[in-house]
Amino acid sequence: DGIVSSYADQAERDAEASVRPKRLDEFVGQHRVREQLELLLHSALRRGSPPDHILLSGSPGLGKTTLAMIVAAELGGGLRITSGPAIERSGDLAAVLTSLAAGDVLFIDEIHRIAKPAEELLYSAMEDFRVDVIVGKGPGATAIPLDLEPFTLVGATTRAGLLTGPMRDRFGFVGHLEFYEPAELQRVITRAAGILGVAIEPDGAAEIAGRSRGTPRIANRLLRRVRDFAEVRGDGVVSLAAAHAALAVYDVDDLGLDRLDKAVIRALVDTFGGGPVGLSTLAVAVGEQPDTVEEVCEPFLVRAGLLARTPRGRVATAAGWRHLGRTPPAPGPG
Ligand code: ADP
Repeated sequence: DGIVSSYADQAERDAEASVRPKRLDEFVGQHRVREQLELLLHSALRRGSPPDHILLSGSPGLGKTTLAMIVAAELGGGLRITSGPAIERSGDLAAVLTSLAAGDVLFIDEIHRIAKPAEELLYSAMEDFRVDVIVGKGPGATAIPLDLEPFTLVGATTRAGLLTGPMRDRFGFVGHLEFYEPAELQRVITRAAGILGVAIEPDGAAEIAGRSRGTPRIANRLLRRVRDFAEVRGDGVVSLAAAHAALAVYDVDDLGLDRLDKAVIRALVDTFGGGPVGLSTLAVAVGEQPDTVEEVCEPFLVRAGLLARTPRGRVATAAGWRHLGRTPPAPGPG
């Protein structure tokens, strides 16, 4: 089971990597962030010095890792990838930092989850391209200052507000990624289908786009599932009919809500009568961490108009009730 699932994960990761945009002009949507990044990178290239450090915020699957890779490619530098939770000791981070070459990009995913001592080491690295490595313990401990090559840090987080103030202040550029419009996701899907050699019709792509939770990673995943279905049960073409039938088989609802999204809405309506209910109570009801419900699940439910945050807690909106096929209580404030 372990081997099978890790093989499947690897296959999914490979499929994802193959359709990843490599340059800024292939990156669909996010016009604002894209234009700002373009200016930042081009002016850095002109000056011949690294750009300011870059913080990218936004929900999972919206393109933060992809943009970090693009930044490295556009700058012509190398890329090192790590994540906040992976950096347990500041020594580990110092080793990564001292191994960077001039012009490299260091990408730290989930940077808000970095351990405190490592975070403090990062401050001087970001500000002065310098770290103090502590050797020894107690009164005999000495700090050995080490110079670093100039590099660019790209940090990713679900929400910039999760970072400490001093950390946030050290990023000269902060870009926020929004959920994608269906028309943009349709372009993501059509582009990916071209790369994968999948025959696709515009209304097939539109159908998948509308049910992808505003998220390119989900759009690409659903494209692969509809392709599987079309190859086995149809003529291999991702048409509207194939998309309809396949997404029914995979139990994807018309907004593309995932298991946790659905659990949250169901708990709100069925267990708590539509709310209001506090975040931690809601999280216990769906068996998840409050952070996960708040950072991963709620942003899309709010944007889709199914859930509202009120001073007294979370409530299901009228649209939330109707999404479950239920009649909202009258006169619903939602
Ligand atoms: P994140 O790091 O925010 O979780 P990723 O950068 O890993 O998200 O993106 C997930 C997948 O979605 C990538 O493999 C990529 O193919 C696709 N993707 C993301 N953003 C875009 C975009 N703007 N245009 C085209 N494809 C995208």
